[in-house]
Amino acid sequence: MTAETETTTLTFADFDVREEIVSSLAEKGIITPFPIQAETLPIALAGNDIIGQAKTGTGKTLGFGIPALQRVAAPGTEAYQNLPSPGSPQALIVAPTRELAVQVAEDLKVAGSQMGVRIATIYGGRAYEPQIEELTRGVEIVVGTPGRLIDLHRQKHLVLKNVNIVVLDEADEMLDLGFLPDVEKLLSYVPEVRQTMLFSATMPGPVVSMARRFMTKPTHISAADPEDFGVTKKDIRQVVYRAHSLDKDEMIARILQASGRGRTIIFTRTKRQADKLADELISRGFAAGAIHGDLGQGAREQALRAFRNDKVDVLVATDVAARGIDVTDVTHVINYVCPEDESAYLHRIGRTGRAGQKGTAVTFVDWEDVPRWKLIDKAIGLGVSEPVETYSSSPHLFEDLDIPKGTKGRLPRHKRSKAGLEAEKLEDLGGPEDRKPRGRGERPRGGSRPRRRSQQGSGKTAEDSAGSKERSSAGQRRRRRRRRRVSGDSSAS
Ligand code: AMP
Repeated sequence: MTAETETTTLTFADFDVREEIVSSLAEKGIITPFPIQAETLPIALAGNDIIGQAKTGTGKTLGFGIPALQRVAAPGTEAYQNLPSPGSPQALIVAPTRELAVQVAEDLKVAGSQMGVRIATIYGGRAYEPQIEELTRGVEIVVGTPGRLIDLHRQKHLVLKNVNIVVLDEADEMLDLGFLPDVEKLLSYVPEVRQTMLFSATMPGPVVSMARRFMTKPTHISAADPEDFGVTKKDIRQVVYRAHSLDKDEMIARILQASGRGRTIIFTRTKRQADKLADELISRGFAAGAIHGDLGQGAREQALRAFRNDKVDVLVATDVAARGIDVTDVTHVINYVCPEDESAYLHRIGRTGRAGQKGTAVTFVDWEDVPRWKLIDKAIGLGVSEPVETYSSSPHLFEDLDIPKGTKGRLPRHKRSKAGLEAEKLEDLGGPEDRKPRGRGERPRGGSRPRRRSQQGSGKTAEDSAGSKERSSAGQRRRRRRRRRVSGDSSAS
């Protein structure tokens, strides 16, 4: 037997995972650890700190969830009786959004179903009482979003002084949503001697520096997403154009009328670009919605649901916000601006061409981004180092993308068949801001549209940029103040 085949036949039992967990997972057909789990388990089960670079879909949840389950003392055991305060939380898992918290708690409940470990899910936008009652009855593991966790700690319902395992899940999304100060506050409430595991799809500077401050000799583990690489060239038609900022909206409006065009994701660099483009497309008759980190949780979920349920078929998104989009039949991905690097490029275009289907990826490169595009092109070996200058009227645009001749930049009335974003219910879940997503029908028709100075092509990202400015602590403070005022609940989701 080769080393390779040996690895593939290892089961969770081979990693010293407790029998109850192994058998609960086996009932769900989870038998062989994914690579991130195989790497994480030995280190985490030994109580060491971990920084895991992994995103949803890699199996990271069980990577930290199994060690958390296994290292807490469950009621009925001797270790539980010997705890300083039985029933007070021993593990704290912090997630940026309600849906992630719920998903993580569900995975843990499945894995721990035979252990008697109590898991509480604590998030905002819901009544306090049931969560308080659950904490009062006693729990071993708490999974929650930062705002509500802090609230309940302040109200003395959530006791954190006996926590000895902390997991920070999707740390980069917490950064993007402005929650890092809240996370740091939570870390200051738990004992210094503890195990800390941090998971993040990307490792921006503030996440790395937080890890440095709050972790002890962490081991770095990284899980590549097989969807990002390899398959891309085979299933995805990739076209790259040097485009002019003032013509991009018109080009997109024509591309959106290409034959066979179905669900489409358009990536922008900034939140404001996402809002502005969604507005523009709606005014041209398309069923579009925007999704980005400044929208409240309810608004983000509304846009995602509308996209999944086919009420809108164009989603304009920033990178981080797009991470939760798990839709297999996206036919087109459009990069409104050249992505940061090859990994961002591959990740974005990997949203199409999934599950054996064909996809099309269109990338606009501004003049000033040509050098960056050249690096991406070289890294992925696409062979388009000099993207051809292209206008909305260029014949090759129509030919490359199967756009019917004579197509203009407005969707003809008889083709406007989608219900639009407003057809999807907006739940008030609170969030970074109580802002609604942009959707069809929100702006008075025929009225004057608020004029915003165009950022396109300027190379500047202004206050809505994905860069450092929007993450300034002043900005975060402002956002949080507004959030509290609006919802009366400082919780994240
Ligand atoms: P995650 O990245 O943790 O959200 O996991 C992605 C999905 O993979 C979840 O639905 C898990 O239930 C599933 N999963 C996790 N680990 C395994 C495994 N070792 N074998 C099969 N499925 C798994």
